[in-house]
Amino acid sequence: MNEGWKSLGFENYNEFLLSDFWKNKREWILSCFDNECQICKSKEKLEVHHLNYISVGNEGMDDVTVLCRECHNGKHKKRDICRQEQL
Ligand SMILES: [Zn+2]
Ligand SMILES: [Zn+2]
Repeated sequence: MNEGWKSLGFENYNEFLLSDFWKNKREWILSCFDNECQICKSKEKLEVHHLNYISVGNEGMDDVTVLCRECHNGKHKKRDICRQEQL
């Protein structure tokens, strides 16, 4: 698997999520999706869900979606990489 965060110099996905780079990008993604959950339209506890991990660090609108915590948890049947507390 060719993880995008490595090309940005981050050791792992978690380090990427804690970076200012991601903080800014996350704000931008949320505003692109009208700051609302794309499933239930909630504006609370929003998180960015990566549809793939190859694009991490260079996400386009087709690579991510915005979900509230409840809907995001529903997307992840078992614990995986996208389900970090900081996301
Ligand atoms: Zn929701
Ligand atoms: Zn996710």
